[in-house]
Amino acid sequence: MTTDTYRTQGLRKQMVKDLLTQGIQQEAVLKAMSEVPRHLFISKALIEHAYKDIPLPIDCQQTISQPYTVAAQTQLLEVSKNQRILEIGTGSGYQAAVLKKMGAAVYTIERHLSLYQAAKKRFEELKLAIASKYGDGYKGWAEFAPFNAILITCAVEEVPQNLLSQLAVGGVMVLPLGEPDKDQIMTKIIKISDNEFTTQSHGNYRFVPMLKATDTTKK
Ligand code: SAH
Repeated sequence: MTTDTYRTQGLRKQMVKDLLTQGIQQEAVLKAMSEVPRHLFISKALIEHAYKDIPLPIDCQQTISQPYTVAAQTQLLEVSKNQRILEIGTGSGYQAAVLKKMGAAVYTIERHLSLYQAAKKRFEELKLAIASKYGDGYKGWAEFAPFNAILITCAVEEVPQNLLSQLAVGGVMVLPLGEPDKDQIMTKIIKISDNEFTTQSHGNYRFVPMLKATDTTKK
């Protein structure tokens, strides 16, 4: 299950080279993405596509973002070692693994039980000490707040105020803001004080929607 062959290593090197060509320059991001075996976060049937710059389907009609999107979001987070980061939308667990490789303390929430379980198993197999939780991301994870950074990996129409309140002063929140089924604007919010924020826009992306409450269908 955790095999990383010369071939997958080679494909991953090429993926990282391509990210650099596309303008991803943060050394720490490129290094982390060269270390995380992306092919182990998707179904075996899709392994040939694991290192292409495309989103791929995972279970529950969700997707793992394309490598460029993961890299761009990660750059915006300004990750440094030992920072506490909350991710909303664990999905495959790939983005959380990249943040962990950068030395952050990672907390991640997923609303689909089966995705949560599969990601948790993957983290254990790959020996990634990531705290993961099955729950509604809109609620955040108050026990571990405040976070130095919060990353939302699904589309939201409005900034979740509850999550802003779980962000430390000086911290950043990165989120694709906009309606589902249209392009969203990658937005970076910096918390200047308890009630002051600055907002920046960083291009258009397309994400699956952030939905309220946990999924109740049994899988
Ligand atoms: N970061 C993931 C990809 C995320 S896709 C990866 O690296 O693979 C978006 C994910 O957000 C989906 O798995 C979806 O189920 C989840 N999601 C949607 N609404 C949510 C919510 N309210 N709380 C937590 N997770 C949510």
